[in-house]
Amino acid sequence: MAYRSDIEIARDAQKKPIQEIGEGLGIPSEHLLPYGHDKAKVSQSFIDSVQDRPDGKLILVTAINPTPAGEGKTTTTVGLGDGLNHIGKKAMVCIREASLGPNFGMKGGAAGGGMAQVVPMEDMNLHFTGDFHAITSAHSLLSAMLDNHIYWGNEQDIDLRRVQWRRVVDMNDRALRNVVLSLGGVANGFPREGGFDITVASEVMAILCLAKDLKDLEKRLGDMIVAYRRDRTPVFCRDIKAEGAMTVLLKDAMQPNLVQTLENNPAFVHGGPFANIAHGCNSVIATTTALKLCDYVVTEAGFGADLGAEKFMNIKCRKAGLSPAAVVCVATVRAMKMNGGVAKADLGAENVEAVNKGCPNLGRHIENLKSFGVPVVVAINHFVTDTDAEVQAIKDYVKSHGAEAVLSRHWELGSEGSADLARKVVAVAEAGQANFSPIYPDDMALADKIQTICKRIYRADAALMDKKIRDQLKLWEEQGYGHLPVCMAKTQYSFSTDPNLRGAPTGHSVPVREVRLSAGAGFIVVVCGEIMTMPGLPRVPSAENIRLNDAGQIEGLF
Ligand code: ADP
Ligand code: MG
Repeated sequence: MAYRSDIEIARDAQKKPIQEIGEGLGIPSEHLLPYGHDKAKVSQSFIDSVQDRPDGKLILVTAINPTPAGEGKTTTTVGLGDGLNHIGKKAMVCIREASLGPNFGMKGGAAGGGMAQVVPMEDMNLHFTGDFHAITSAHSLLSAMLDNHIYWGNEQDIDLRRVQWRRVVDMNDRALRNVVLSLGGVANGFPREGGFDITVASEVMAILCLAKDLKDLEKRLGDMIVAYRRDRTPVFCRDIKAEGAMTVLLKDAMQPNLVQTLENNPAFVHGGPFANIAHGCNSVIATTTALKLCDYVVTEAGFGADLGAEKFMNIKCRKAGLSPAAVVCVATVRAMKMNGGVAKADLGAENVEAVNKGCPNLGRHIENLKSFGVPVVVAINHFVTDTDAEVQAIKDYVKSHGAEAVLSRHWELGSEGSADLARKVVAVAEAGQANFSPIYPDDMALADKIQTICKRIYRADAALMDKKIRDQLKLWEEQGYGHLPVCMAKTQYSFSTDPNLRGAPTGHSVPVREVRLSAGAGFIVVVCGEIMTMPGLPRVPSAENIRLNDAGQIEGLF
């Protein structure tokens, strides 16, 4: 049987006017700020007006360590949202917006897949409502004002060798990673080294996704460290006086975007921070607003559970006062086989033994997730090539780990395929077993927070930090940053720092290469391994196949 591509399915969607979707959530049309007919922002005054309502239940979707076989977290998030509506719950999904860079590289879309997608998927994967452009502009304004400050006399005494603030563009462009600025003579300033990151790696993005409201946004922007003086004291964004104008540029981008699924259920698509040097989940304002409007809110964290869910719990939930009622951990037969040592080319053949061999990766994620005090349901995201015996092998394994795995066929069948998963999630969430708590307290020493994550989540023997790093952490503690959570930047492919070490490794250690303070976002980034803040394009970028056809439709966008 031939299956249609994601974009072909999305193109045929029977969308409802966005006002109707808003009505279903009780948002009066004057509080929807439409962008065309199928997207709208929700007004801040409406958001303010629902604050006293009780919260619905929050469900996190996360996954095993990603493999090239694909896991389908977003697809499962959307499928579960539709499944919950299908069984009569009022539910919505909260996911991230897409970055242009990876779309033109090789990642594929960010709107889900098959019969579990949010629409309009073309818009969502391209300019959408302009949020990322606004973030690029706000970031660039600060870049310009900072160099302008230096140009007109450098009153803050910024050490030109210690400027932290870089530039951003929402594109994969490795040529811009390191550049020389201000060439060309006296009128152009003082030449210095600089560079570009991709927009989603901007601290402005992380802040937009963690800020409670515009006031909080402005304060956090002001708190960002942009450079150091010769005496090593920090220069803040507020010293450059940029945070007011940046907030003006971000005022609309702060409002969540309402769209719909293929089944006309509501979805907020808002924000998209990097999952390594930032926390990798959609915005706090979208999630907290959705909880006021629905019985169930399903949201996704980037990467595998060791990174994505850990940061969701320890950073986002801690900062926003959120408390998940259950976690869904996505696994696939294909990914279990890859974890069990099968090459991508051989995934087509049934191999129960390899599934069994790969399952310890899933088992460890289940244990880890439970250690946050939250019940876990495993969703087996069904691929049509999976065999019954392979699916049963995962179910048996999960059972032996004190959880339950449910086969979900949302990709193929939409909500009919995910109703069983939805019923299981409701049963677990309503049993009220969740007793969420982050795995380290605010007042633990920063170095101990890092050790806690490395030992309890990655199951490493230790995090290795040399004196320079330990001294830096101490200094930040003395400067009043010791209460911050840590944001781990590590390969998503393994529990360890070696991307090729699949399964459930032990006996490894985690070398910490560098620590960075994101004082505005409010976390310490702990870099363990190569971290790319400006990706490059592959030899054959997907952009080569993206075009408009004669009917004016977009082709090649996955
Ligand atoms: P993630 O959020 O984990 O990165 P996505 O949900 O975005 O993954 O899915 C990645 C790709 O895999 C999408 O193109 C989607 O259509 C495809 N996909 C997801 N689930 C399935 C499935 N069950 N069968 C076939 N393709 C799938
Ligand atoms: Mg995703």
